[in-house]
Amino acid sequence: MRMVFLGPPGAGKGTIAASAKEYYGIPHISTGDLFRSNIKNETELGLQVKSILASGGLVPDSVTIEMVRNRIAEPDCKNGFILDGFPRTIPQADALAEMTDLDAVVDFQIPKEEVVKRLSGRRMCPSSGRIYHVIFNPPKVDGKDDETGEDLIQRPDDKEEAIMHRLEVYTEQTEPLIKYYRDKGLIKEIDASVKPSEVFELLKQSLC
Ligand code: ADP
Ligand code: ADP
Repeated sequence: MRMVFLGPPGAGKGTIAASAKEYYGIPHISTGDLFRSNIKNETELGLQVKSILASGGLVPDSVTIEMVRNRIAEPDCKNGFILDGFPRTIPQADALAEMTDLDAVVDFQIPKEEVVKRLSGRRMCPSSGRIYHVIFNPPKVDGKDDETGEDLIQRPDDKEEAIMHRLEVYTEQTEPLIKYYRDKGLIKEIDASVKPSEVFELLKQSLC
């Protein structure tokens, strides 16, 4: 199963991908996670993209496309993958179409007011990428990862100013992909505003 998760920042793509990757036995490829791990490890790519991520803007297409091309060429992607956060622009979608066929593009539908609540309360474990929410999915111990006890962080781009910018970027550059993939007959729309367990059920139903 080769699928793309599409939807605004904060729609719950990463949360649902964590369950879906186990269920379908395919890797979860989050371009945001790949960039963040390069930033953490201070690689050349990380240094190049750090300020772009902090501002909520998009990394140039050429850089992002090459990163994804290399990642999906790895052996664990042989039977499929979940692409989360890619493509985000029409040129990225065109490049992806040259790399691989897709089985489905899942559109996570949610009102914009709801994503602001989700993003402003999001916390994450910096090493594993595990995702929490201060109200909707709190850790067992306040501010600590459930498995390792590490301190959770708030992403720099989950501060209010960057959130607003990311939503604008989504509307301008990424939302047009819904029509792009609808025209190709690949779109599966799911209601992402309900609880995570219900969203996951809707995902499974939409894919069978
Ligand atoms: P969210 O899950 O909140 O939507 P991501 O973790 O997917 O955010 O992405 C974080 C940031 O990484 C983006 O705001 C952008 O700066 C960069 N990024 C991730 N994916 C892409 C992409 N496909 N094209 C360009 N930039 C990207
Ligand atoms: P995305 O990858 O689309 O940016 P995330 O999966 O990181 O979104 O989720 C954003 C925030 O919303 C996180 O704090 C997460 O715990 C929370 N969240 C995710 N799905 C739901 C849901 N169905 N209901 C309530 N909160 C959710």
